[in-house]
Amino acid sequence: KQLGCNQYSYFTPGIREEAHLRHMLMRDLSNARGQRQFRLYYQPIVDMQSGRMLKAEALLRWLHPEHGLISPDDFLPFAEDSGLIISIGDWVFNEAARQVAQWRTLYVSDFRVSVNVSPAQFQAPSLRPTDWLASLQRLGLPGESVVIEITEKLIMNAAASVGEKLLQFRDAGVRVAVDDFGTGYSSLTYLKKFDIDYIKIDRSFVNNLATNLDDRAVCEAIIMMAHKLGMKVVAEGVETAEQCKLLVEMGCDLGQGYLFSRPLTSERFTELLRGPLAT
Ligand code: C2E
Ligand code: CA
Ligand code: CA
Ligand code: CA
Repeated sequence: KQLGCNQYSYFTPGIREEAHLRHMLMRDLSNARGQRQFRLYYQPIVDMQSGRMLKAEALLRWLHPEHGLISPDDFLPFAEDSGLIISIGDWVFNEAARQVAQWRTLYVSDFRVSVNVSPAQFQAPSLRPTDWLASLQRLGLPGESVVIEITEKLIMNAAASVGEKLLQFRDAGVRVAVDDFGTGYSSLTYLKKFDIDYIKIDRSFVNNLATNLDDRAVCEAIIMMAHKLGMKVVAEGVETAEQCKLLVEMGCDLGQGYLFSRPLTSERFTELLRGPLAT
């Protein structure tokens, strides 16, 4: 399989057992938080010009007692359909905040952690920015220590509550990144309206940067536009030195991908923070 293939085991049921497995998965998922089966992995986000590691994206894993490490793509859809995403998302936010507080105290005082928030999760009335902001306050963290990653789909949503919630985060200093940029249909108007801080170029454009001139043009255009609007650009899925070099030449600010590091356990990530990349 290709280089980008993740190493943890996938939960891939055959069609016949699917209904049964789905049922068990839902049952297990509703117990997973209480049983302390969730883990956050952290992937470095690197300053492409200096090589310094400034941030990490928190990526959720489910350590299932029988099926092993399960990828978020394999269980988040269930979590969203059932509403469990709210309590799981609260756990993710609090755990990531706790972790970044420790790292800021011990290693890098301006370190940031980036947390994914899916559209259904963000729009749910039970997701209250004030709760999350109170958690930061309890930990003595400024809003700017956290980035929330939302999708183009969400900012295109006209619902007033979406704008209000984003504003509450923004007012508290929390940074906002638009994830998987280029795959949806968001217009410049929305990026301006919500005062977005970062755009993350989807890895499908980064993949073939070395060979595909169209993808190269898309990346160049996104970077130029983002800079004109005062936003920073993160390239996702940087796997080769050649992709990295091209992105640096285009003036891309930040990079994330297997070239720098795979997502790591918090223990492994802590070792990395003690090393030369962080200084
Ligand atoms: P995403 O936000 O686009 O996260 C980036 C995904 O790309 C991660 O997959 C990461 O492991 C993978 N990746 C990073 N570098 C490379 C690379 O160089 N090459 C390739 N091929 N892949 C790379 P992961 O961890 O399986 O997460 C999948 C998706 O699940 C995430 O996509 C995000 O949308 C969602 N997700 C993860 N954690 C959370 C969470 O805590 N809450 C919510 N709501 N969604 C989450
Ligand atoms: Ca993300
Ligand atoms: Ca992404
Ligand atoms: Ca994605």
